[in-house]
Amino acid sequence: MCGIVGYVGQEKVDTVLLNALSRLEYRGYDSAGIATLENGSISILKESGKLANLRKLVAQFPLSGHLGIGHTRWATHGEPTQRNAHPHADIAKSVALVHNGIIENHAELKLHLMEDGYVFQSDTDTEVLVKLVEKYHVKQPHSLEDAVRLAVKEIRGTYAFCVISAREKGKFVAARKGSPLVVGLGKGENFIASDR
Ligand code: GLU
Repeated sequence: MCGIVGYVGQEKVDTVLLNALSRLEYRGYDSAGIATLENGSISILKESGKLANLRKLVAQFPLSGHLGIGHTRWATHGEPTQRNAHPHADIAKSVALVHNGIIENHAELKLHLMEDGYVFQSDTDTEVLVKLVEKYHVKQPHSLEDAVRLAVKEIRGTYAFCVISAREKGKFVAARKGSPLVVGLGKGENFIASDR
């Protein structure tokens, strides 16, 4: 197992995400990462191994902003390396996404997407989901929500995922099928996570 988190609110996003990921550590993981959105650009920090490795990286390169996503990974497709750790993004970093679960039809989707010119940067099944959101939200003019709705029509398997977009400030979009996901609605802040 593994975990995802999403946060939007007034607190310092890197601290909130790291604290949330520590609470998901008990589920087991082999790598961890976070992505944040600030001033219209997405930043990603990720590391293989323990959360302490990611904490060191964040201490070196703190991320500001008030919106972000985080992940602890239990590799199913692709080695547990820094390159395969989540969040995953499109090449221009217009969208970043964290995913728990398995996309069963990833191989055929990847072939079609590569034929359409999409370049893959990891060995994960997850990356096809990033490309589908990119296709519908960046290449075509759908909102992030609509792009997620269109993307999930194409994938088979179990998932909980959360995605942010450099084009849509102040929001994350999450979806689930067969994997746990809880929503926390607060005063001026909202969360999603794999567990409370
Ligand atoms: N299947 C994805 C991967 O291998 C997600 C694994 C997970 O649930 O952490 O990257």
